[in-house]
Order: sequence, then C-alpha cells, then structure tokens
Amino acid sequence: MPIKTFLLSTFFFVLSFLAGATSYLKINVYNGSAISSATLRVHRGEYVLLVDGKDDAQLNPGASIHLRAKDGNVVFTRNGQSRTAKGIAIQAQSLDEEFILRPANQQLKEHKYQDHLIVKARGNNLVLVNEVQLDKYVAGVVEAEAGSKHTHEYYKVQSIISRTYALSNLDRHAAHGFNLCDQVHCQVYHGKARFNDSIPMATKATEDLVLVDQNINLITAAFSSNCGGKTLNAEDVWSQPRSYLVSVPDTFCLVMPNSHWEKRIPKVHWYGFLKKNGFPLDDTTRSEASFYFPKDKNRYFSDTTFSIKSSDVRSNFKLRSTFFTVQEEGEEMYLIGRGFGHGVGLCQEGAIRMAQLGLPYNEILHYYYTNVHLIDRKNIEFFRSEMER
Ligand SMILES: [Zn+2]
Ligand SMILES: [Zn+2]
Repeated sequence: MPIKTFLLSTFFFVLSFLAGATSYLKINVYNGSAISSATLRVHRGEYVLLVDGKDDAQLNPGASIHLRAKDGNVVFTRNGQSRTAKGIAIQAQSLDEEFILRPANQQLKEHKYQDHLIVKARGNNLVLVNEVQLDKYVAGVVEAEAGSKHTHEYYKVQSIISRTYALSNLDRHAAHGFNLCDQVHCQVYHGKARFNDSIPMATKATEDLVLVDQNINLITAAFSSNCGGKTLNAEDVWSQPRSYLVSVPDTFCLVMPNSHWEKRIPKVHWYGFLKKNGFPLDDTTRSEASFYFPKDKNRYFSDTTFSIKSSDVRSNFKLRSTFFTVQEEGEEMYLIGRGFGHGVGLCQEGAIRMAQLGLPYNEILHYYYTNVHLIDRKNIEFFRSEMER
C-alpha cells in the first residue's frame, strides 16, 4: 500500500472514532430541487476525496470538483479530467473544514457547509448529503428558522427546540438513506450559521440539552411564528393530543410584527370554496355573512348550520393563521386575523419578546411546553432506568 494511502486510511480510522464520540447527522441538502449538476469547492481545511468508498486524493482549500448525474451515476470532473462513479464523498480531516456547494440551477443559492459531503445520483439528478455534527446542524437550523437579529437568550431557546426536534426525528427519511431533509418538512437548513456569532455560542451554551415529557421521551417541539394571543392544543390542529402541547394564553406576542393580518378575497372565490365543501346556502340568497372563527379558537370554521376544518380554509386561501373573523364588503370578503402559523407549542415572537424582557431560556420553554423536563440527552437512559425501578 502506498504510504500516502496508508496515512489517509489511518486518518479515517481516527476520524470515525471521533464520529462515534460525537453525533453526526445525514442531511439531504437542496431536497426537492432537481439538480443535474453542481460545483463543489473546498473553502477551508483539508479533505480527502473518496471514489466508490476508496481514498482517491487529498483536496486543499480552493480545490473544486464539478458534479453531474447521469443514469444513476456521478460524473465528476477535477483538474480537467472526468470520471464516473456510483458515488463519491469528501471527508473532512479535522473539525473545522468547510466546503461550498453551488448548483448549476441559477435559482438555487450556493451554501457553505461544514464537515463531510456524500454525493450520489438518482437518475439524472444528484443526491447531496451533508454529514454534519449535531450542533453545527442545530446552529444552521436556528439561523435559517429564526433569522440573525435576536438576543442570545432566545437563540438558546431555539437551539434546544431544534436539537430536540432533530433527535426525535432521526428516522424520518430512513427509507431514503439520510436522517433529515433541509426543507420545512423537517427543519430549514442552509448550511453553516454565519451571520451572528451569538447563534453557535448559544448552541454551545445549551449543548446536549433536550426537552422530554414525563415518560422521558423526546417531545415533538412544535413551534410557530405568532400564536395571536393564545396557543392551541395539539389536537385542535393535528389528530393526536400531546400532554405537553396544551393551550396557554400569550400576551407577549401581541406587540410583535406578526400579531395581526388582513386579507381581502373576491366573494365568488370565498363562496365557491364553501359550496364546493358542502356549504348549504346559495350565495345569491345570502345577503349577510359574518363568520367568527374561532369563537374561542375552535377547530372548526362554522356558522350555525355548517362547519369545515379551519386548517382547510387556511390552506385553501393561504391565510397566515386559522384565527380570524370574516365579513362581506361589497364584492369582497374582508378577513381580519391574528397570529401567523399553526399556533401549537412555542410561539416564536412571544418567546423573542420574553427574552428581550430578560426571562431566561428555561422559563420561556416551560411556559409554552407543559410538564416537560429539560435534561442532558446523555442522561435519558439514566432517567428511564430510574423510572422502571
Ligand atoms: Zn424532511
Ligand atoms: Zn404568542
């Protein structure tokens, strides 16, 4: 075996040992976008290129590889030479390496990622998987989901939620060969958090902390942008109740940007939708229509004779929330609403406001999630075994 290859292989052994000590997640990036080709560029540190699982070359900063999918294979071009493989990967040689991915599709932005990349092909599209340490991923999610202009304390809140969510959904894409996608379906992730150092610091400050319910199971840490003054029970929006997703009043978010909304919808569209869903009255005979949804944030949009699931009304008209009143004004329906999002679990703008007012992250989390514990994830088994005694 040539010395260079031997050294690289030894390095991998050390690296996989490190990987065992820390937690790495496989995140499918640019999920849902058809990417037939892309450029990969090493931004920082040293990588090893693996071709069909074998050490192939060392990559230094600035090294770039053009990637293309063809009939289920990856065609990669480096230094002017093209080769074909079932799959390639680049493996970081320490914990600080970074690379940049730029899809050929101009509508997709380039992103900077940390740690490793695995490249495969499905038909004529690339499948790109960033294998990344848990807390680097969490920091990236916090920035993508919450933006870069908040307090340090709020970033601790969001870090714990995102970490808990990720760890409780590790098998969400098991059938696809990765843990999570980078879209709203799992959690939005655009690679490295890079606009506010406070974010990775908050992730570090809350390292390994997760939320569990009374049976020491990781919770479904649901959150939405603004609850409009009161959060909802899980069963008001989804099918299953959850002991910790229970409605709580929230006045903190009412002074925030997403607390109110208005929308006008042509009358014909509004009544057309209601009729299509079995609404019993003819729109020409209905001179006055004033619906109040929800009376007390009920699950159904209704008048006295008819009801429809409020989430269906919301998705059909792309409303910001299910919390609104509606009345006729001329040829239009005028909707006045509160909040933004499904309203279950933590209210982001309420939590942002609480953090601005000086409340610590643990109190904010306990306010929105009922009867939960905040524990180190390494102690989950310990607590469970104590419960079984
Ligand atoms: Zn997903
Ligand atoms: Zn709220």
